[in-house]
Amino acid sequence: MMHHDVAVVGGGCVGLSVAKHLRERTDLDVAVLEKEHHLAAHQSGRNSGVLHPGFNYPPESRKAEFATEGTRRMKAYCAEHGVPCDELGVLVVAKTDAEEARLDALAAQAEANGVEYELLDSQPAIREHEPHAVGQAALYAPEAASVDAQQYVYALAREIQAAGAELYTGHAVEAIHRTGSGYRIETDKGPLEATYLVNAAGLHADELAHQLGVGEGYQIVPFRGEYYELRPGRRHLCRTMIYPTPNPDLPFLGVHYTRRTDGKVIIGPNAVLAFGREAYENTQFDLSDLFDTLTYGGFRKLLASRMMLSVALEELSKSYRKGKFTEASQRLVPDVRQEDLKRSYAGIRAQVVSDDGDLVKDPLFVTTDDSIHVLNAVSPGLTSSLPFGDHIAERLEALR
Ligand SMILES: Cc1cc2nc3c(=O)[nH]c(=O)nc-3n(C[C@H](O)[C@H](O)[C@H](O)COP(=O)(O)OP(=O)(O)OC[C@H]3O[C@@H](n4cnc5c(N)ncnc54)[C@H](O)[C@@H]3O)c2cc1C
Repeated sequence: MMHHDVAVVGGGCVGLSVAKHLRERTDLDVAVLEKEHHLAAHQSGRNSGVLHPGFNYPPESRKAEFATEGTRRMKAYCAEHGVPCDELGVLVVAKTDAEEARLDALAAQAEANGVEYELLDSQPAIREHEPHAVGQAALYAPEAASVDAQQYVYALAREIQAAGAELYTGHAVEAIHRTGSGYRIETDKGPLEATYLVNAAGLHADELAHQLGVGEGYQIVPFRGEYYELRPGRRHLCRTMIYPTPNPDLPFLGVHYTRRTDGKVIIGPNAVLAFGREAYENTQFDLSDLFDTLTYGGFRKLLASRMMLSVALEELSKSYRKGKFTEASQRLVPDVRQEDLKRSYAGIRAQVVSDDGDLVKDPLFVTTDDSIHVLNAVSPGLTSSLPFGDHIAERLEALR
């Protein structure tokens, strides 16, 4: 039977980054097991593709550290590996006094985290950056960038293979068992053994962890994020990236505008409960996943909060009613008309909810004697993927 020192389950940006850093730091024989035949089929290829420098996160938090360092490292990585990356900067727009006060808090975080920023205090100042954006104030962060996330994942895959790691695509892990000296991993193509395990299975990470009795106080609740895109003749309405001021009580940043590296302007994502971990259309559902979510006590506690229930209903209406989505888009750019928008792709966030009903906002990973389970590679997980993978590789090295 095939044996590797380390098996990484999941070939998204996190799993591949772990493999990259393990190969750089150690002489361990590393294999990555990916269930899809093509990479970047889930979160790592279905996101906004924005590098978020750390102004959105509290100083000294892991999220702030990873995001700030990740933005810089990823720009260098993209330049070195020919991955499209446009340093456009981002405009976070405030529409009310309460939002303007929150912008000051973001500016303080930017300052503490060493992120460049500028506060714009008038509509004319906003218009100099984005002629069609409307607000009473804004924070401009020039370090934010737009990246081709799928090409980034493929660059990582090429790099780890060149460094001697095995990448098994089309290998779905069905079960994992403990053995006396590590793990026996059953895949749909046959078993293999490994001394150490890294579980970076994204939307399915909790299912694999639970098989081994790890992370049982948490469950992934899939939240779909749907995008529209501007018709080609209307793309001038957004030059760079325009975000609303985030609500600090929610882990999602709100419907925003992103100019992608291919020139398209996407608007979204909303955040609706997905009726399946891979239910990318709002007409799709997976009965077993849906049952798991609806019977999960943590999810029921989450929905018991009046604020969460009203957010959930509002987001649901944006999914089924284009007019509602258009209204959310017009809040930042009033010149956008319903006919300017056409449906684009969707992504699904692997959002971890605790048994207490909390949406876990920080990265969460659980280390055992010989394994690491990445349970919440929460946004900005793409931005943070290089330092995050480095950190996990360092932890695994310490287990030897
Ligand atoms: C809508 C949306 C917008 C986002 N926008 C941004 C953004 O602008 N900037 C940012 O920094 N972050 C963003 N994020 C977050 C970011 O995309 C994720 O944090 C990151 O991609 C997580 O990577 P991952 O490798 O953990 O997960 P994934 O990319 O989901 O990778 C997990 C992999 O594991 C594989 N897998 C699962 N189960 C098995 C199994 N049993 N056997 C084998 N393989 C398995 C899957 O096929 C998948 O390829 C966004 C996310 C979403 C959903």
